[in-house]
Amino acid sequence: MQQSPVIFAESMHSGLFSKSKKIFVLTDENTVRYCLPEIEKQGEVHTIVIPAGEQHKNIETLTKVWQALAAGFADRNSVLVNIGGGVVCDIGGFAAATYMRGISFVQVPTTLLAMADAAHGGKTGIDFLDFKNMLGAFALPESVIVYPAFLKTLPQRELLSGFAEVIKHYIIADASSFHEVWKCKAVIIEEANWKPLLQKAIAIKQSVVARDPYEKGIRKILNFGHTVGHAVETLFLQEKNYLLHGEAVAIGMLMETLMAQELKIIQQAEAERIVEVLIEIFHNRPAIANPAQVLQAMKHDKKNRDAVPLFALPNRIGNCLFNCEVEEAVILNAFKNYNELYAVA
Ligand code: NAD
Repeated sequence: MQQSPVIFAESMHSGLFSKSKKIFVLTDENTVRYCLPEIEKQGEVHTIVIPAGEQHKNIETLTKVWQALAAGFADRNSVLVNIGGGVVCDIGGFAAATYMRGISFVQVPTTLLAMADAAHGGKTGIDFLDFKNMLGAFALPESVIVYPAFLKTLPQRELLSGFAEVIKHYIIADASSFHEVWKCKAVIIEEANWKPLLQKAIAIKQSVVARDPYEKGIRKILNFGHTVGHAVETLFLQEKNYLLHGEAVAIGMLMETLMAQELKIIQQAEAERIVEVLIEIFHNRPAIANPAQVLQAMKHDKKNRDAVPLFALPNRIGNCLFNCEVEEAVILNAFKNYNELYAVA
């Protein structure tokens, strides 16, 4: 399936947006301040602002977006421009996909995570009943506009969180980019030239999604790190030391690599190299006090079959298997090893 065009912009000039449509802009309380002013004004624009953060990726916020669209008389000839991180892109995409049975939308990702991952591939949605992305729809944006200069105001912790999804793309499909990261490790974050790093990550996502847009098969490799990651993210959401999405995915990739190693799916040296990069770059690795609770949360994962958690596991750097069933004992052993060897109190 044809994927949405990706435009790497040098500036956010008004020519990037369709002039014939009534424009609605969705931002959060940070992107309205840091990113919206960068965008050249054109005509009347209806701006909608939602609170920032994963805890607001819910039905209440979505309802407010629908209400704002209705109050501004949005119709089938309107376009919703989502300017923000993965939360704004996911909620805005879902609002557009459902409002009047679907209006056009454009993704303008402003975090590294959204530029590399969330804005592409047509998955939209919200969290529900304490589960990640429980409600949602597949809907492709008209285009995705990537303007790496937005990253200048992004806090370092958010930048690192996004880098987890970049590395994930390399681990599952691009060994040579992974080895470049391995050589430079943390340095790459400090001195990154984001455009080429993003181009490679986006190309991987687009080509996988084009082969399997509705995640019946190969697209599941993009979920590497996410079976554990989503469950861990959900559990920490209400905690004071909550985890960002990419931080949870990094912990998930680490544990799922340990599982692949124990199952002898991946050679020890390759697994060790993945783990080495992950622990060098991602330092927020709290111990998981209650693995049984995480296991329970995993049973609600969308990737499951009959409530049996399924995993995407790398079989070498640059390649990944999917639909892997893993015995509970192996999962619990990965938690134990993670807690003992890699968690930072
Ligand atoms: P986010 O959207 O919460 O953004 C992180 C924080 O950075 C927020 O506080 C935001 O206001 C702020 N921010 C955004 N851009 C900024 C900028 N340029 N300068 C300063 N502050 C800025 O989080 P995220 O990490 O971008 O996205 C995580 C979400 O993405 C999760 O909900 C996850 O489930 C989703 N996701 C979706 C897909 C998909 O395919 N749809 C893929 C991966 C992740």
